[in-house]
Amino acid sequence: MDDLVTRIKEKGMALGFSAVGICDAAPLEEESRKLDLWLSRKFHGTMEWMERTRSQRVDPRSYFPEAKSIVVVAVNYFRKDEPLKLPQDKASISIYARGRDYHKVIRKKLKALLKEIQQWVPGVKGRVCVDSFPIMEKSLAVKAGLGWIGKHTNLILKSKGSYFFLGELLLNISIPSDTPFTFDHCGSCHRCQEACPTDALSEAYVLDSRKCISYLTIEHKEGIDENLKPGIGNWVFGCDICQIVCPWNKFSESTQISDFHTRIPESWLPLERLEKITSDEFEHLFQGTPVKRAGYENFKRNVGIALTNYRATVKRS
Ligand code: SF4
Ligand code: SF4
Repeated sequence: MDDLVTRIKEKGMALGFSAVGICDAAPLEEESRKLDLWLSRKFHGTMEWMERTRSQRVDPRSYFPEAKSIVVVAVNYFRKDEPLKLPQDKASISIYARGRDYHKVIRKKLKALLKEIQQWVPGVKGRVCVDSFPIMEKSLAVKAGLGWIGKHTNLILKSKGSYFFLGELLLNISIPSDTPFTFDHCGSCHRCQEACPTDALSEAYVLDSRKCISYLTIEHKEGIDENLKPGIGNWVFGCDICQIVCPWNKFSESTQISDFHTRIPESWLPLERLEKITSDEFEHLFQGTPVKRAGYENFKRNVGIALTNYRATVKRS
């Protein structure tokens, strides 16, 4: 079995994953309690599907009842040559969303890994998960020894940073697990909490989604609280501020996966141009990228807020 673990990890790295870990598929008990508390505080905002899927989230076997082990992978999407935050008159888009939608890219690689495992161990069954089912992927990554969840609530890989997508391959065989990552390398740092412009991290390790720019610009389809709008600055899809300031991201390297290179032409980034974008142009410009998830109306709403914020800074200066 140890040999199988080595082969899975070697093949995973050859497929372009930056880290590969293994854990069992048992329910996540501690996380279950934390999730209940988080939901009871209404930190999920209007994402009421999070309440609906609560019991599925904490039990990977609700996705694949035969699961015994889970291969958890991290996929780097960082680009050193990409500006992380643009000047105020341009649209800032979270770096993960500028390239090809990661779901397809990672799913394809995990399917290739499953195929390979099936050649080594005939009859093995598996299911791939890349956001396709609500399992607690960050907690599984910690359990599989990949890293720790920082005060900004993202997974951090030691000496690699936090610009990673996660994916899982659930298997119906039991293979040796990695040692869970138990150390918290945040120490006395609070940079992410201090830098968050909307105070969404007032409590360390607890995200109040209702105040988070990522949630507001992507998931929240209703009007945005006037008090939160100035903090949104020029972010029109997602926000990377808490990751930008994190000292562990000084280790970030550029991804080797060309699918994650930006697809959005710079000429489209001035807010005053995006303000006039038509629905057809929106579809065309963001085709195949995660930005389409915001939807045209919400994207325009976000651009409107960013433009108001930019004009306010011009007026003040
Ligand atoms: S993504 Fe932005 S708004 Fe959300 S917690 Fe991080 S810094 Fe705050
Ligand atoms: S900025 Fe500091 S506190 Fe926040 S996640 Fe990074 S190391 Fe942890």
